[in-house]
Amino acid sequence: MAIIPINIKEGTLKLEDYIIGIDLGTTNSLVAIIDRISGKPKAIAGQNSEVIVPSIVYLNPNGEILVGEDAKPFLVDDPHNTIFSVKRLMGKSYSDVVISDSSIGYKLIDDNSESLVKIKSGDKFYTPIELSSFILKDLKKKAERHLGAKISKAVITVPAYFNDAQRQATRDAGKLAGLDVLRIVNEPTAASLAYGIGLNPEEGKTVAVYDLGGGTFDISILKIHQGVFEVLSTHGNTQLGGDDFDNAIIKFWSDTNSEIRNATQLPLLLPKLRLMAEDAKKQLSGAMNFEGVLTTENLAIPLSLSREDFEQLIKPLVDKTIESCKQAMKDADLRCIELDEIIMVGGSTRIEFVQNEVKKFFNKLSINTALNPDEVVALGAAIEADILAGNRRDILLVDVTPLSLGIETLGGLMDVIIPRNSKVPQRAARQYTTSVDGQGTLRICIYQGERDNIVHNRKLGEFLLSGVPGMPAGMPKIEITFMLDADGILKVGAQELRSGVEQHIEVKPQYGLTDKDLEQMLLDSMVNAKDDLNYRSLQEAKTEAQNLNYATLNFINKNKTELSESELEKTKSYIDLLKAAISTENKDQILKAHDELNDFTKPYAERLMDKAIVMALKGKTIEDN
Ligand code: ADP
Ligand code: MG
Repeated sequence: MAIIPINIKEGTLKLEDYIIGIDLGTTNSLVAIIDRISGKPKAIAGQNSEVIVPSIVYLNPNGEILVGEDAKPFLVDDPHNTIFSVKRLMGKSYSDVVISDSSIGYKLIDDNSESLVKIKSGDKFYTPIELSSFILKDLKKKAERHLGAKISKAVITVPAYFNDAQRQATRDAGKLAGLDVLRIVNEPTAASLAYGIGLNPEEGKTVAVYDLGGGTFDISILKIHQGVFEVLSTHGNTQLGGDDFDNAIIKFWSDTNSEIRNATQLPLLLPKLRLMAEDAKKQLSGAMNFEGVLTTENLAIPLSLSREDFEQLIKPLVDKTIESCKQAMKDADLRCIELDEIIMVGGSTRIEFVQNEVKKFFNKLSINTALNPDEVVALGAAIEADILAGNRRDILLVDVTPLSLGIETLGGLMDVIIPRNSKVPQRAARQYTTSVDGQGTLRICIYQGERDNIVHNRKLGEFLLSGVPGMPAGMPKIEITFMLDADGILKVGAQELRSGVEQHIEVKPQYGLTDKDLEQMLLDSMVNAKDDLNYRSLQEAKTEAQNLNYATLNFINKNKTELSESELEKTKSYIDLLKAAISTENKDQILKAHDELNDFTKPYAERLMDKAIVMALKGKTIEDN
């Protein structure tokens, strides 16, 4: 049934008013809206009443593009042109993508390891952004058919650990599909909203969102307070999900049945076996036993699996997810008793064994499983869309940035401007100055990460602030402003405040980080904290020494006539000693040479200073003496 909203006051049809909520998943995608009559979110069903669109795109060599169920059969019939799990490739370069999954039948292009990864089909190349846009277009069409209205606005969800590049890629995919993406929302935030958590601004809660999908697992711990959704920690595994349960079943069958073992050697049988394994898994969510027959032209192999065997098979995999939960709780510095809710998301959480293990770990009698775990993220996205449409004015949603953002300063040091875990949107500014006289151009390099030495962090971009009028070192006042918008996309501005010269960029990173990298970066920052501190103090000592050398040289050049021959000679030799010390990279030596130069110049500097004061009192300065 098509529902067309009517503005009763004006008597007009408000066709443009719908904002859809989209869960763009690795395995499955879906679209949801708020039902105008019930006021509740609901997933939109297609022509055959199916709400789930498998995230599969078939690029028919004749130019036709099929999406979802229509594309699925080609995984077997034409694997080279059938693209699945494209979400894993979003915002990544070829060198970022580790293809551990040999079952990928399509071809990735590695012409340039630094640029975004492309997929080859026939003689055409596609980016993950384009491929995702095909799925989004399909979802948009589905919603338009259902509503009988054109749609141009959407909210799209992404995993909490997605970085700038991956969020930007998702936004771009929306644009390509003809959607104005009003907001990119974290999946665990959407799932909480679907359960009504965070809708009451008075209420504060701490929740764990356990999301076990087809190919990925994520655990996120959120603190929700006054409409602010703060991600306290995230953990997970991008190569663990329901597909692995299917594979475990296939392995079990082929280990225990030689006919099956031989059958797995036949490329055409494996897809059939995989479907049967998935079927067995799903049936065992209700039944205690599965019985089936794998049939081919000349074979009929009976297969069975008990609930008990199934649970034994998946136990090691489920244990891994529990390990991640443990880590996430540790990172969030929380005890299980401090959690108010456990929310279950993703098709694989229908498995009773999974639910029980999660209950056991978090020590809870009940967990949130009332909503359909396939739909819960899309339902939450629809609620967020409704909030953005202005229908729930009292609510504001805020997420948090996962890594620190900053710029490179002298000595290759990271200077953090927006610290990790800051709420977004966020605006922060800091003032800098120059270290060389008359410096007219400054290179501003932007980094993301937790280490003190920028080489260990990830460069997001750089730009030049040029046209700064010549001033002595230390005079210019350069204000660097970071603006992180609600989607986690960064805009950087630089302005020299005395002259007003300014420059801005929007950071659209060329390639992204895997969430493994992200985890690694956080881990490294802890492991290397001591080294980092040593590095920072060495760099600071070097910078200070260089500044002292520069200032001293300047001083003696300006005041040659006031100094004795031996003072000049000795000063120069101390400067040379300090230069030599700097090149040793030994902090103690640098500090020692720094102090020696300082101690030597101090008496005559004071002498000249006193003289300068006397002269100044007489209305003269040393320079025009
Ligand atoms: P994603 O978020 O990665 O796109 P989904 O949340 O849609 O994935 O989960 C898909 C996975 O859920 C598949 O592996 C599918 O086999 C599994 N699944 C769906 N229904 C059931 C069920 N009843 N029992 C067990 N697993 C299920
Ligand atoms: Mg999902």
